Amino acid sequence: MTKCVYCNAEISDDRSMEICDRCGVQVWGEKMWAAIKKTTDNARDSGNLALFKEQEQKNEPHWKDVVGNKIS
Ligand SMILES: [Zn+2]
Repeated sequence: MTKCVYCNAEISDDRSMEICDRCGVQVWGEKMWAAIKKTTDNARDSGNLALFKEQEQKNEPHWKDVVGNKIS
């Protein structure tokens, strides 16, 4: 069971982000959050999630920057 890194709520699905929908939408807005989840899940499925995790360990988890760069 995954727990949200912000509010510690349990996350029941198998998303790659350890952030619940409530916090995700609060931080990024509904549209961006949906894009972030999609991008990170795709990255995980294609074996690239390590790149995201590495970014997270080096810095604060600036998911918006990481995913924003990926999308644009
Ligand atoms: Zn949360």
